Amino acid sequence: MTYSRSLYIILFIGVLVCSPYQSEAVDLESRYAVIIFEDHDTLKRFNNELYMGRLGSQMRRNSGETIEDEVISKIDFIVEKVMLTLDMFLPQLKFSIVIHPDEKTVQRDFFDIYKVNVDYIAFYSPSRNTVFYSADNSFLRVVAHEIGHVVAENYFPISPPQRIHEVMAQYAEQHITD
Ligand SMILES: [Zn+2]
Repeated sequence: MTYSRSLYIILFIGVLVCSPYQSEAVDLESRYAVIIFEDHDTLKRFNNELYMGRLGSQMRRNSGETIEDEVISKIDFIVEKVMLTLDMFLPQLKFSIVIHPDEKTVQRDFFDIYKVNVDYIAFYSPSRNTVFYSADNSFLRVVAHEIGHVVAENYFPISPPQRIHEVMAQYAEQHITD
């Protein structure tokens, strides 16, 4: 009786100690981005959606890659490709990426920041210098488009007008596979 009770107490303390870490978002750090995601499954789905097509052959390959390594190398590759496409080089660029499990969570974050309901699948918040993606809608063109916004925003000392911002992001999106 005493034994099982103390075991129970030990387990209970174990749960208390462990649970804050399990619910906390995980961070990955690439050259240009801090990548925050809720769990490994979300990162895995994001990585599967982010199919690089023939760009994959241009990327550096190191054997025994984990999903974390794959996401880091894809993001850094896309950032550099977007800089090249826009002719805006930012070697010191740092921004954040939040990967959500679904679009609803992306839209909830947009509402939390801007108090407006939207149906966006991804967005960039210049004030937070953060891109929000959904793991079920993170195709190469979507990812490149938002990174186009990141590069444009960080390149100019004064934010370009919204319409010009959009033109540059679309240009980055259209030329990512060139
Ligand atoms: Zn846009």
